[in-house]
Amino acid sequence: MSKYKIKVDEDKCIGCGTCAAIAPKTFNINAEMKAVVKKGDLDDNPTILQAAQSCPTAAIELEEDGKKVYPED
Ligand code: SF4
Repeated sequence: MSKYKIKVDEDKCIGCGTCAAIAPKTFNINAEMKAVVKKGDLDDNPTILQAAQSCPTAAIELEEDGKKVYPED
């Protein structure tokens, strides 16, 4: 299982901090109150998926091996 490719849609992100609370090794809230993806050793995929699913505005998109994992179409 390869690591998810993670994208945050900054237009959708409202800076609530939920993703960073669930997956603190993966997401950071920047000075503009937008979630950004960290570099390096991120959380495992289930944790990242849980963070994406918990985002109130569905701002987090996940891809695995070029296939969209979340949100589902
Ligand atoms: Fe932004 Fe969603 Fe993370 Fe909240 S959970 S900070 S809206 S990406």
